[in-house]
Amino acid sequence: MQDFDAIVIGSGIGGLVAASMLARYRKRVLVCESHTIPGGAAHSFSRRGFHFDSGPSFYCGLTDPQSFNPLRQVFDILEESIATIPYHPLGHYHFPEGSLPIYANAKNYLDTVATFAPQGAKELQKFQQNLLVLYEALRGIPAVALRSDWQLIPVLLTRYWPSLLKLLPLIGTIAGSAGELMDRDVRDPWVRRLIDLECFLLSGLKAHETVAPEIAFMIGERSRSIIEYPVGGSSAIVDALVRGLQRWGGQLRLGTHVDRILVTSGKTTGIRLQNGEIIRAPIVISNATIWDTYTKLLGDEDVPVDDRKVALSTPAVESFMHLHLGIKAEGLEGLTGHHVVVHDSNIDITVPGNTCMISIPTVWDQNLAPAGHHAIHAYTLEPYEGWEYGEFYQEKKRERSQSLFKALEKSYQICDSGSY
Ligand SMILES: Cc1cc2nc3c(=O)[nH]c(=O)nc-3n(C[C@H](O)[C@H](O)[C@H](O)COP(=O)(O)OP(=O)(O)OC[C@H]3O[C@@H](n4cnc5c(N)ncnc54)[C@H](O)[C@@H]3O)c2cc1C
Repeated sequence: MQDFDAIVIGSGIGGLVAASMLARYRKRVLVCESHTIPGGAAHSFSRRGFHFDSGPSFYCGLTDPQSFNPLRQVFDILEESIATIPYHPLGHYHFPEGSLPIYANAKNYLDTVATFAPQGAKELQKFQQNLLVLYEALRGIPAVALRSDWQLIPVLLTRYWPSLLKLLPLIGTIAGSAGELMDRDVRDPWVRRLIDLECFLLSGLKAHETVAPEIAFMIGERSRSIIEYPVGGSSAIVDALVRGLQRWGGQLRLGTHVDRILVTSGKTTGIRLQNGEIIRAPIVISNATIWDTYTKLLGDEDVPVDDRKVALSTPAVESFMHLHLGIKAEGLEGLTGHHVVVHDSNIDITVPGNTCMISIPTVWDQNLAPAGHHAIHAYTLEPYEGWEYGEFYQEKKRERSQSLFKALEKSYQICDSGSY
């Protein structure tokens, strides 16, 4: 007796994509989400008329039919769409030695970098060219065609063999890191830090820990497609996926924490919720973190020891500290939407507080705040440990958030002086 064909644990973008696609192909699907708001890292929330993103704000190719963005392909399959606002440049990076706008156009970007590091810009061009070759080869195989079992081989051989041929000489690059490509072409220390920063913004990790296809995808899409912000914020993407899920018959249960994936004789049989309820399905997809999946949702006896070891060796990103502010817009006419501030060039970019990301989506979509106001989301790396609520919590919060307030002031002063 099965309640569903598949259960998805978690309504992050990954979980919603998996579930809505299964629903689209006529499977009975249930998504269980711990939180009362869907979207995981991409969820949004409202306070006193301000609408805040909790995570992503850099998007590209969401509405462009030429884009390789898998989300756009999923929207097509679900027959859903979202409205977006194109903008440029992508943002501004602020270092103590100066600020630079980040242009999507590869030539403009290199010209700006050349004002800081003329030789480095030439090396960066070579690095980018190699990534674009990889991007072009990857473009031929849509992400929605990929699968993780052996049947990938006949799919690739029958439908995508010309793209496969293009990819063959690049196998080493695909399996390698962006750092390995950087070591090959880039000596200039300023540009190496810039590449590390771009990888860090993308994956939370520096170039040697970021896989090359990921950065190739970002560089490729950014220069070939449209940089845009979803009207209504990140939740517009989440809402479209939830709409698609439900329209095709899938179900979403919020405030529903899954305690355990049930496994009998090596096969999944369903899930147990925190309240003890059991729901049965032969397929369970976990959108929880890999660490939670292998240490909390599955028991030691449920998966082979080696699988667990490989999964748990995945490098983890520190946690983030977030600042959400509603401010008056008066006098801030020159404001732009994205800023990345590195406070100290002599300190590693991954040291908590040193690199601060700022997004002001009301620059593009004024409906995200009451008239005459801006909504701001700023964040920086911060270790998860040591934040248990207690006597010193508020004081620690005030002290640790100073780097974010300082970053905001810096980015505004630079905007205001027009010095980039
Ligand atoms: C601060 C920040 C900024 C980012 N900026 C960008 C950006 O600008 N552009 C971009 O493209 N990407 C960005 N990202 C990355 C992007 O947001 C994530 O890659 C993406 O949202 C992750 O989706 P996911 O489905 O993999 O996982 P998650 O979003 O982590 O979703 C997992 C879901 O599972 C739920 N869950 C976990 N355990 C259980 C359980 N036991 N029972 C039920 N539910 C459970 C969680 O509550 C959560 O909703 C950013 C991420 C962060 C954190």
